[in-house]
Amino acid sequence: MSKILIVEDEVSIADLEKDYLELSGFEVEVANDGQTGLDKALAEDFDLFILDLMLPGVDGFEICKRIREEKNSPIIMVSAKKDDIDKIRGLGLGADDYMTKPFSPSELVARVKAHLARYERLIGSTVEENKVIEIRGLRIDTTARRVWINEEEKSFTTKEFDLLTFLAGHPNHVYTKDELFKEIWDMESIGDIATVTVHIKKIREKIEYDTSNPQYIETIWGVGYRFKM
Ligand code: CA
Repeated sequence: MSKILIVEDEVSIADLEKDYLELSGFEVEVANDGQTGLDKALAEDFDLFILDLMLPGVDGFEICKRIREEKNSPIIMVSAKKDDIDKIRGLGLGADDYMTKPFSPSELVARVKAHLARYERLIGSTVEENKVIEIRGLRIDTTARRVWINEEEKSFTTKEFDLLTFLAGHPNHVYTKDELFKEIWDMESIGDIATVTVHIKKIREKIEYDTSNPQYIETIWGVGYRFKM
């Protein structure tokens, strides 16, 4: 599922955009001020950004520039003033598209889709192939951090993904909960190995057809877990 960040200080507009995009199947996060938006944009992975120009704190110009220093995902800039749009075009900040408010939410959705499709074609043709693990209907793209089971994409938390990838990357090897905890949560972590059990349960719910008879991650009683090759 593509993830979109909206940076927009007018809450009603942000909510409207969010609703339409979510109805179209996108995952959407909203930041209502510039600094929060910029921090989020740089800290998390988004497939597309929608940036309002005039924002409290850091403005859309600056956010666009900073995102472009680090990321290539499409950016759509939004402004209430036609003049501003002309100005930002001229600045060559690296935005991919510009929209003048007010616009129809369905037009926004159409543009988002077009930019995502274009971007996917672009990375598909230029970037080297992702590292993929494929075992009996389970496909893990370790580069894009995406998982499919029988062609259906499932979403995983960071730790669930790390744990699944670690196990699938070392098939037929039995790991104790202790070893897995140290591997995925690092030694300094405060927590206990019950965390591993909880995460294994969550992963199984997503990838197993019958969680009481797991085909991928086996429980080795009294020892730990093994990914069946
Ligand atoms: Ca604004």
